[in-house]
Amino acid sequence: MSHEGQPYQRVVLKLSGESFSPPGERGISMREVMQIAEQVRSAKATDCQMAMVIGGGNILRGAQFMAGNEGIHEATSHQMGMLATVINGLALQNALENLGCDTRLMSSIPMDAICEPYLRRRATRHLEKGRIVIIAAGTGRPYVTTDTAAALAALELDAEILLKATRVDGVYSEDPEKNPHATWFPHLSYNAVRERNLRVMDATAIAHCMEHLKPILVFNYLKAGNIERAVRGEKLGTLIDGQD
Ligand code: UDP
Repeated sequence: MSHEGQPYQRVVLKLSGESFSPPGERGISMREVMQIAEQVRSAKATDCQMAMVIGGGNILRGAQFMAGNEGIHEATSHQMGMLATVINGLALQNALENLGCDTRLMSSIPMDAICEPYLRRRATRHLEKGRIVIIAAGTGRPYVTTDTAAALAALELDAEILLKATRVDGVYSEDPEKNPHATWFPHLSYNAVRERNLRVMDATAIAHCMEHLKPILVFNYLKAGNIERAVRGEKLGTLIDGQD
C-alpha cells in the first residue's frame, strides 16, 4: 500500500458526471457508462475494494440556479443536483451488473425503493464482501459538491487513497484544454494546491484530505486501463499528499 507500485487494498474513486456523457455533451450515454464500467471491472479484478462517489454535473449542478435569479432556493437547487447523482448511480450500477459485477448503490438521501441508505458500517461490509459500492447523493446536504463527499467517504471508509478521475493527465498550472502550454505536475503538496489555487477538487475536499493526510491521485480516466493502473499503485497522474 504505497504509491510505489504496490496495489491498494481499498480506494474511493470519484467520478464526475462528465464521465457519463461524451465530451461537451450533457445527459447520460450508456456507451460512455459501459466504458467506465469495463475499466472498473478490470480494476476490481485486482482484488482492490472499491467504493465510488458519483457526480451529477452532466445533468444538473446546484450552482446553475443562482439564488434569486431563477426563483429556486439555492438549497433546493443543490438537492436537485444530488438527485442527479442518483440517476447516474443507477446507470452505473446497471452497467456494472451487465458485466457481472456485484454492486450496491447507496444513497446519502434515503430512497428505499431504488437503493440502500448510505451507512458507513454497511458500506464497509459490502466492501469486505467484494462488492463495488456506488455512493450517490453526495453528502446528503446542500452547498457542497461530490468532491467533498468523496473526501469524506475516503476518510470514513478508511480508503488508502482518493482517486479523482478527470479528462486530463493530472493537475496543471492552468486548464490544459485551454492552454496547451500549461505545466503538468507529477506531485504536489496540499499546501501547494491551496496556495496556487489549482483547480483539482473543491477547497473543502482538499482541506479534509489535508487535515487527515489522505493522499489524492488525479488521473486521466479517458485512457483505457488507467483506473486499473491507479488501483495497482502504478505511477500516473498527479499525486497530492503532505510532502513538499
Ligand atoms: N450536491 C450537494 N451536496 C453534496 C453533493 C452534491 O448539494 O454533498 C449537489 C451540488 O449542487 C452539485 C450537484 O449536487 O453541484 C452535483 O454534484 P457535483 O457538482 O459534485 O457533480 P460533478 O461535478 O462531480 O459531476
